[in-house]
Amino acid sequence: MTITSSAAESTLAPGAAVVRVTDAWKLHKLGDEVVKALVNVSLEVHPGEFVCLMGPSGSGKSTLLNIIGGLDRPTKGTVEITGQDTSKITESQFAALRHDTIGFIFQSYNLIPFLSAVENVELPLMFEPYDRKALRKRAIELLHLVGLGHRLDHQPTKMSGGEQQRTAIARSLISNPTLILADEPTANLDHRTGEVVVQTLRDLCSKLGVTVVASTHDPTVAEQASRVIRMQDGHVQSE
Ligand code: ADP
Ligand code: MG
Repeated sequence: MTITSSAAESTLAPGAAVVRVTDAWKLHKLGDEVVKALVNVSLEVHPGEFVCLMGPSGSGKSTLLNIIGGLDRPTKGTVEITGQDTSKITESQFAALRHDTIGFIFQSYNLIPFLSAVENVELPLMFEPYDRKALRKRAIELLHLVGLGHRLDHQPTKMSGGEQQRTAIARSLISNPTLILADEPTANLDHRTGEVVVQTLRDLCSKLGVTVVASTHDPTVAEQASRVIRMQDGHVQSE
């Protein structure tokens, strides 16, 4: 296993979108009230794009990322990932698609505190029939690529926030995903550290041919994006 470009390997048909959301709604019933988390949202994300979802708190960014990643299902509408209509597959098929195709990055890093950086990066593939040495080699390569070659054996508690998020970026890339979904990846970081983390994410994904959809309300994150999609009250406002 070596670091390869996922776009080159992917089975995506020519011209196909990595993500296609069509007329998606997400409604939550709260007693007599209905909260419209997503209102008739349509969008396409193409291979190699770094798309930023910009909007204030409560505008629907996490909901949209969650329905793209299959962590939640839309009330109405469809989500296609690499050309597969996810409304036509079972939860376990979606789990397999997610495992093979999507990497996740969260605001709170979600690293395991008692594992080292390299073990955290290996974790998504730790329980699979991979050659242990090849897996270790790839995890180390990815940590070098995010600039953490000197932190391989550090536990998250001994790392700065920026280093923890860069470890999470390496982990999101371990299974060679086509798509990375990042929900407010810089929200817990100071301005300058956030900028470095997003640059790392952008440069590495562009090098590996990975498509990214990231949510933020930080304009410096949006500045790094190839396209900004604005959200307000569950609507996609403009592109
Ligand atoms: P953002 O990530 O932009 O802050 P969210 O996608 O988290 O926005 O939320 C969009 C809207 O949907 C908000 O009004 C939020 O309160 C509401 N919402 C999200 N999840 C639920 C839920 N499980 N139950 C009820 N309302 C929800
Ligand atoms: Mg959110």
